[in-house]
Amino acid sequence: MSTTTRPATVTDELLERLVARVPGSSGATWKLTEVYTGEVLVELPQSTPEDIERAFHEARAAQRLWAQWPVRKRLEVFERAHTLLIDNALTTADLIQVESGKNRRMAIEETCDPPMVISHYLKRAPKLLAPKRRGGPVPFLSTSTEVHVPKGVVGIIAPWNFPFATGLSDAIPALMAGNAVVVKPDNKTALSPLFGISLLEEAGLPKGLFQVVCGEGPDVGPTLIDNADYVMFTGSTATGRVIGERAGRNLIGCCLELGGKNPMVVLDDLDDAAVEEWVESAVFGVFGNTGQICMHIERIYLPESRYDELRDAFVRRASGLRIGASYDFGPEIGSLVSTDHRDRVASHVEDAVTKGATVLTGGRARPDLGPAFFEPTVLEGVTKDMLAGKTETFGPVVGLYRYRTVDEAIKLANDTDYGLNASVWSGDIARAEEVAARIESGNVNVNDALATAYASKGTPSGGVKSSGVGARHGDQGLLKYTDVKNVAVLKRQVLGARPGQNYDAYVKQMLSSLKLMRRLRVR
Ligand code: NAD
Repeated sequence: MSTTTRPATVTDELLERLVARVPGSSGATWKLTEVYTGEVLVELPQSTPEDIERAFHEARAAQRLWAQWPVRKRLEVFERAHTLLIDNALTTADLIQVESGKNRRMAIEETCDPPMVISHYLKRAPKLLAPKRRGGPVPFLSTSTEVHVPKGVVGIIAPWNFPFATGLSDAIPALMAGNAVVVKPDNKTALSPLFGISLLEEAGLPKGLFQVVCGEGPDVGPTLIDNADYVMFTGSTATGRVIGERAGRNLIGCCLELGGKNPMVVLDDLDDAAVEEWVESAVFGVFGNTGQICMHIERIYLPESRYDELRDAFVRRASGLRIGASYDFGPEIGSLVSTDHRDRVASHVEDAVTKGATVLTGGRARPDLGPAFFEPTVLEGVTKDMLAGKTETFGPVVGLYRYRTVDEAIKLANDTDYGLNASVWSGDIARAEEVAARIESGNVNVNDALATAYASKGTPSGGVKSSGVGARHGDQGLLKYTDVKNVAVLKRQVLGARPGQNYDAYVKQMLSSLKLMRRLRVR
């Protein structure tokens, strides 16, 4: 049975408590709504430039003390946070659902991301943050030590599609490395990150270290970037360019995790069992989170020889998807995040149909289910002069394409400005890996759509081409939040000619010692 009654955990008292920590000295607020009903849940304070500067000031004061904590002591906070985040996963999922309209499965899966990130870096951070002694230029008489120091205060700008994951998971390695964080969630989805931060504080994170400011991006962004020592941005490619430009002008580092137009290439050798697996995975890869996953699939390339069979199997499953507004596990697909976004998705479908594409299933908004619902939609005959053929739709819409040779499939898959995620399916893993090696993308999933790459927290994950700069996860997902200090020690003044030494003799000695050192190092 499905239910659209607001979850009992999402009380007015909880909502008021969460938004109370957002500074908003002007008194201006933004009406945060429940997506399934369009009803106002709470008035979210909007932060002024002065509020943002104050948040950075407080964060900076807290950071100076936090950076002095031994790494082990900082990590103990995250050991406790790991437990608290899991123990409170159901309430977190309730908040994620009310503010984003996604279905229950995706909300629950989203709650798992910060604990997974914590688990990974609890193991890895002590090694990454320990000073590393290297040899200096003169063996025995010199040393050089690589020391990682925190950047200071990291500004994080997060989108609405995974508000809890992007609000928290990118902050965790920054905090572990000794930084403070000021996060700006999207206005629509500020509740779940606020709840997550309250759990981190319950686990012992010092007050003031993790600040939240709210407002529309162009209002908050400039002051946030101008006060930050590093910016972590997740969002659209268009906004990423604005953020990157400003960070560049301020000479601070940034990581930009941006959009995609992600392809899936299916090779011609899948047996019946593999086709079944492919259909399930592809349906999730296209329609999971109502198509609002940055790594979701928007283009599927099928071999000409098996096109009809594979298309029909995919369309059959897509057209049977259960879609609806519910806080239980009934619907497989939830709502889009807003009516504005629904209109954007609808405009891509309309544009494609007007220019000659065919709708194989779906294609319509579903106001009968809720204000922002849109049907899972499969298109055929999409071309690059259509919006849906070129730019990111970010909704439950996919185009199916035929290819004749594997070379052609790879060429088509790479024919895009984006390079965030790709998927390759084959009965022969080695064959799929050969294709994967030729696809221009920051992530390639073999025999999966997207989750395997994203959940591999030990490997950096980012975009190439217009899909981004830098990466999250892996060693660089933590080290990017540090500056490297090279502390070099020379025990005796041996670099240079000795007093009174003939310079020709010195050069001869220096050149032969270069050869000697090379031989010593080779061994
Ligand atoms: P968006 O760029 O419109 O907004 C993202 C965030 O940036 C929001 O908090 C927004 O308020 C803020 N913002 C907007 N304009 C700003 C400005 N001028 N200065 C500073 N901040 C500004 O993106 P969106 O529509 O919220 O999110 C969807 C996009 O995010 C899609 O393109 C999706 O692919 C991408 N995304 C990428 C990843 C990834 O890891 N690569 C993950 C999730 C989402």
